[in-house]
Amino acid sequence: MKELYKTCTKCGKRKPNSKFHKQKGLKYGTRTSCAKCSNKRVSEYQKKIRIKVLLHYSKNNKLECECCGTTHYEFLVIDHIKGGGCEHRREIFGDTKGGFRFYRWIVNNNYPVGFRVLCHNCNMSLGLYGYCPHNNKNIEIYFNEKKHSIKKNNFFNKYF
Ligand SMILES: [Zn+2]
Ligand SMILES: [Zn+2]
Ligand SMILES: [Zn+2]
Repeated sequence: MKELYKTCTKCGKRKPNSKFHKQKGLKYGTRTSCAKCSNKRVSEYQKKIRIKVLLHYSKNNKLECECCGTTHYEFLVIDHIKGGGCEHRREIFGDTKGGFRFYRWIVNNNYPVGFRVLCHNCNMSLGLYGYCPHNNKNIEIYFNEKKHSIKKNNFFNKYF
């Protein structure tokens, strides 16, 4: 069977129908813009929301890590100031995976308090060790000592 072709309304390129996301009720059962254009639009939308949320929790209305000052948007994450990010995600999503849905959750819940902006490194270090080597005195650290030593022991038992 010969493959159907249609023209993407976004980029104007003629492409095989398999390069379009499925959608019932439309011509050939697919969307009017090709998968590449659709994905691009989704990621642009997600980036916009991510920046909006990060800016809301940033200090001085500046996109940067509160600990080390990194300004690369790609490195920044929302940190649960008092910890318990995994438990929180399990509570609202049923599993501990992160991703864009958490940013959507923040928007849908009217930007709850208790979050701040860190980069992946500072976030990881604070979560895993209860401190960050940057030693930023302005960073509030809430950490359960007991939890800390258990995690650390597990880590060392596993790798050393
Ligand atoms: Zn296209
Ligand atoms: Zn940082
Ligand atoms: Zn740091």
